[in-house]
Amino acid sequence: MSETFVVIGGDAAGMSAASKVKREDPEREVIVFEKGEWVSYAACGMPYYVKGAVDDLNDLVTVTPEEFQEERDVDLRTGAEVVGIDLDAQTVTVETGDETDEQPYDDLLVATGASAIEPPFEGLGLEGVFTIHDMDEADVIENYVTDRDPETAAIVGGGYVGIEMAEALSAHGVDVHLYEMLPHVLQPFGEAVAEVVEEHLREQGVELHLETAVSGFVGDERVDGVELEDETVAADIAIVGVGVAPNTDLAEEAGIELGPTGAIATDEYGQTNDENVYAAGDNAEATHVVTGEPDHVPLALTANRAGRAIGQTITGAPTPTGGTAGTAIVKAFDLGAARTGIIDEDRAREAGFDPVSVTISASTRAHYYPDGAELTVTLVANRESGELLGGTVVGREGAKRIDTVATALTADMTVTELQNADLAYAPPFSPVWDPILTAAKVLAGKLE
Ligand SMILES: Cc1cc2nc3c(=O)[nH]c(=O)nc-3n(C[C@H](O)[C@H](O)[C@H](O)COP(=O)(O)OP(=O)(O)OC[C@H]3O[C@@H](n4cnc5c(N)ncnc54)[C@H](O)[C@@H]3O)c2cc1C
Repeated sequence: MSETFVVIGGDAAGMSAASKVKREDPEREVIVFEKGEWVSYAACGMPYYVKGAVDDLNDLVTVTPEEFQEERDVDLRTGAEVVGIDLDAQTVTVETGDETDEQPYDDLLVATGASAIEPPFEGLGLEGVFTIHDMDEADVIENYVTDRDPETAAIVGGGYVGIEMAEALSAHGVDVHLYEMLPHVLQPFGEAVAEVVEEHLREQGVELHLETAVSGFVGDERVDGVELEDETVAADIAIVGVGVAPNTDLAEEAGIELGPTGAIATDEYGQTNDENVYAAGDNAEATHVVTGEPDHVPLALTANRAGRAIGQTITGAPTPTGGTAGTAIVKAFDLGAARTGIIDEDRAREAGFDPVSVTISASTRAHYYPDGAELTVTLVANRESGELLGGTVVGREGAKRIDTVATALTADMTVTELQNADLAYAPPFSPVWDPILTAAKVLAGKLE
């Protein structure tokens, strides 16, 4: 009899694994339980749907449920929530509507993702107060904006989702107030990037309230204000984007161990403390390529890649899920900001390094070629070894150049090796010395 691979969670990690297993071993039974109705969707596209840059929410779906069932032969069950895992019996308990069933597995992947954090705010249940994590929420927000025509928005949290939603709501002519309790937005990107982004947000008409904690919302059924420490400010729509927490309850209750970050602990193949159970995506840890420590970076590529690797491992070709450098990029109106690895000296010291860093600004194109933009690049290295630790870039174009830095980190390159990389040049694309090479050159000089 063929073996059964069961997946809990039908998005990036889960469907990547399911598809890979079916491709490598078409005989194997692959069953995916997804509690919602959406599968294989790009949550990353939701702010652009709300903005109006994407016409139809269905456009965010990569592979439809019908394609999974009919073309990939995956037994996909939507509206089916797994409520228990029995590690000894190797079964999961599944609730579908009023029915409860036990499903045996040979291998199990827990790919339950993460959930938006809901702070203990007063008035969180008022109409017009939203988090944005699930696809249905994007639809509800879009409808609310279109039907109610709000004048003023309160965005709570200056992370990448808050900034993307600031842009999305501004596009509808809403006055956006963004509240961040820390001194700067985009905490993982560091101060140097944040200051450039903040200036740009203000230029775009966003009212930034830094070091300002929100304590709740007020209104009579529908939100009409946001409560701060000593005042209430008008708001007729509010988006709470204060981060996500990994969905680990199901795994933890079954006896699957969590790691130091609070996400599910896994080895380099995504295996948990139970040899038949794997975890991948926003609910699981990955190893940081610079520190070698477990980290929790809930981003899409990590989830897709880990799911695919686990699919290969299960079908007989052990494949590491790959490390994370925490590489991330965000669009803030006309700016791009990106980060990878350890992005400033303070964080490098905390991680036990003796850092040297440099920040340079250079044009993204040859100085004589039209429409170049200034790109600010920060690189951080370990003084003794010259090993590259990470960096950031921010500018009106070229933020994807962070990928060069991420590649160098993955390859354990020194700053000198990065400086000697043979990067492409032609005037419309870069100066002869690409901004990343210029930063590496200056940093190498500081290391001598
Ligand atoms: C607004 C927004 C913007 C984003 N933008 C970016 C971006 O620009 N770049 C980037 O890299 N990442 C971005 N992300 C993050 C990215 O979407 C996630 O990293 C990715 O979706 C993680 O995939 P996953 O499969 O681990 O989890 P999820 O996508 O969360 O999927 C988990 C699935 O499991 C299901 N599930 C949970 N529990 C159960 C259960 N008990 N039984 C059955 N089903 C269950 C859930 O319903 C869900 O469908 C964004 C996320 C959001 C919300």
